[in-house]
Amino acid sequence: MRLPTIPDLGDLGGRSVLLRADLNVPLHDGEVADDTRIREVVPTIAVLVEAGARVNVCSHLGRPKGRPDPAFDMAPVRRRLADLAPGVDLLDNLRFDPREEAGDPALAARLVAGHDVFVSDAFGACHRAHASIVGPPRLLPSAAGLLMLVEAAEILSLRRAPRRPFVVVLGGAKVADKLGVVEAVCSMADIVLVGGAMCFTFLAAAGHDIGASLCDPDHLEDCRALLAAGHPLQLPEDLVGLGPGGRLGEPAAGGAVRQFGANLPDGWLGADIGPGTAASFADTIADAGTVFWNGPLGAFEDPRFAAGTATVAEALAETRAHTVVGGGDSGAALTSMGLARSVSHLSTGGGASLALLEHGDLPGLAVLRASAERFSLPLHEVDERD
Ligand code: ADP
Ligand code: MG
Repeated sequence: MRLPTIPDLGDLGGRSVLLRADLNVPLHDGEVADDTRIREVVPTIAVLVEAGARVNVCSHLGRPKGRPDPAFDMAPVRRRLADLAPGVDLLDNLRFDPREEAGDPALAARLVAGHDVFVSDAFGACHRAHASIVGPPRLLPSAAGLLMLVEAAEILSLRRAPRRPFVVVLGGAKVADKLGVVEAVCSMADIVLVGGAMCFTFLAAAGHDIGASLCDPDHLEDCRALLAAGHPLQLPEDLVGLGPGGRLGEPAAGGAVRQFGANLPDGWLGADIGPGTAASFADTIADAGTVFWNGPLGAFEDPRFAAGTATVAEALAETRAHTVVGGGDSGAALTSMGLARSVSHLSTGGGASLALLEHGDLPGLAVLRASAERFSLPLHEVDERD
């Protein structure tokens, strides 16, 4: 894929830059709980400031439903940004305005007023055609920031030329959200390992008893078709179940915890992959050339069901393969285990990395290419890494 880059914007001395970042960080007690997304955009800010530009940063934070909400005030993010990149301004939460999520060009016009160029470094929001993502490139000469280039290159090179065997590990909650990705990776990867809550719709489709596990009956047929198509999909061979009366995330509520094969008795909820499956997934990861991982393999926030995710995370940290993690809850699991730096690339965008892997393009990238054409900026190949 070809994108316009910051040097293509010409001399930035004395010019005003609108920078769209994804500073949607977790907050705890009114403070930033994890500043990764803020730190990741600092190199782009540094390049712009070094070039003599004035920088105004904009981002969304949380889901404030289109009106100002003190719970999603940018003040804690602004304080952290001021520590890491002094001298830049951060606008109010974009989602305080309902026009942001509606993709309203009127909001984009208001945002770009007073700016000379636009830089997009909001990879994590690029799968959404929101006003601040798709609007400014139509109005100003625009370029991808440094983080955006790295994120795009990492995911696109998985599609283009992964070192083989290419292993994809998918977990997480909703099979409905990820079926498109499962189907897409089935034609790219050599092995697709499936765990997490989403494996139960597949197990049910394969004829197993899934007890009280999460299941999406509307997608049973799709799962059955994927299994029948001869794809390299691997489902768990053993499981850890939570017995009747137990509640996920509440060990004090009781409920037995037991290991099973690929079938669960009535009333039992499948909450993690079993130790045999975890060991086999780890072996596959150890022998891989490239691994992409998205979605925890079990309800890992509950320590009783964290073992499968922990085993896979450790295997990812140890393998010699090129390892890419798709962010979201899997990134949080890696970070909580102190393994975030042990993978080749931890994406700042969960949904965006999945969408780019599935489709090979995102609305927020397509507008940058169209903008380059409109404003006659050159384009550069981003995924030439081997
Ligand atoms: P990601 O953010 O990495 O894409 P998801 O948001 O799709 O992942 O899913 C993460 C959630 O899935 C976690 O909160 C985890 O507790 C839950 N989960 C994983 N496996 C199970 C399971 N077997 N039963 C219930 N919840 C599960
Ligand atoms: Mg999630």
